[in-house]
Amino acid sequence: MPGEAGPELRAWVDYFRDLGIHDFYRRGEFVAAASAGDDVIAQIHAESIGRAGVAPVAVAESAEVSLEEAAPVRHIAAAVADSQTMKLVSFNNLALLPAQPIAPADRAAALQAIQEELGDCTRCPLAYAGRRKIVFGDGSPTARLMFIGEGPGADEDAQGLPFVGKAGQLLNNMIAAMGLARAEVYIANIVKCRPPGNRVPEPVEANTCSQFLLRQIDVVQPEVIVALGSTAAMYLLGVKQSLSSLRGRWHTCRGAKLAVTYHPAFLLRDPRQKAEAWKDLQMVMAELGLKAPKKN
Ligand code: URA
Repeated sequence: MPGEAGPELRAWVDYFRDLGIHDFYRRGEFVAAASAGDDVIAQIHAESIGRAGVAPVAVAESAEVSLEEAAPVRHIAAAVADSQTMKLVSFNNLALLPAQPIAPADRAAALQAIQEELGDCTRCPLAYAGRRKIVFGDGSPTARLMFIGEGPGADEDAQGLPFVGKAGQLLNNMIAAMGLARAEVYIANIVKCRPPGNRVPEPVEANTCSQFLLRQIDVVQPEVIVALGSTAAMYLLGVKQSLSSLRGRWHTCRGAKLAVTYHPAFLLRDPRQKAEAWKDLQMVMAELGLKAPKKN
C-alpha cells in the first residue's frame, strides 16, 4: 500500500462498509484513483464490484489532488460529523447519572457486563486499524481514584492492559508516590483500541467509545478522576483548552471531582514538568486524605 495513509484509510472504508456504505463519491462523482488513499478505495471498490457483479466504474486519469481533497471518506466523515459524532460533549452531558448507584459488592460484575457488551468491538474505525487487543480498563472496581489516559500504545495493545509500557511505569511511580498501590486505583483510556501510529483519537472514535467509559465511571463511582493529558481532558470535559488553563483547579465529571495533569508520556519527554505534575497529584491527595509514604 503506497503512502502512510493506506492502512488508516482502509480502516475507515472497512468501517463504513460495515455500516452498509459501499460506494464513495466526491462532489457527486466516483473518485479517481489519484493517490495512496484512492488506491485503497479503488481496490476495495474492485472487490465489492466483483462480489456484487456490477459493471466497473470508470476511473479518471489525471486528477492531481491532495489526499485530503481526494479521500472521499473524509466527506462521508464530515457528514457523520453533522450527526453529533464529531461534537465535543462533556461526559456530564452525555447521559443522566444512574438513578440507582451500583453497590460496591456488585461493581465487579457490572464492569464484567460492560466488557461483555463491548465484546470484540467493531463500532469505530480503530477496530480495523491494526488493533490487536481491546484495552478495556484495569484496577479496583471500587477505586476512589480513577486515572484516564488517551488510548493504548503498542505495549497496551499487545497485552490488553492500560499503561503497561514506559509511560505506565511512570504512572505506577506516580501512584506509589501518592501512597497507593496500582491495584487500588482504576485505570482506563478515552479509546480502548490503539490508534495507528499512536495518533490522537478522532472525535468519532472517542465518541463511539465514550458510552463504555462513561458506564465504567458510573459503576466505579470514583471520588476523584485524574485526566492524563489534554486529549483525555478535552473529551471528558467537552472543551478544547490548553492544559495549563485546565490544571490546578477542580472540574466535575459524572459526580466525581476531576483534576487535569500532564500525561506521563509527556513527562518522560520533558521531566522538568514532573514538579508541576506532583502539585496536581498533591491537590488530589489532599482531597482524598492521602499522605505520601515516608522515604527510607
Ligand atoms: N498512553 C495512554 O494514554 N494510555 C495507555 O494506556 C498507555 C499510554
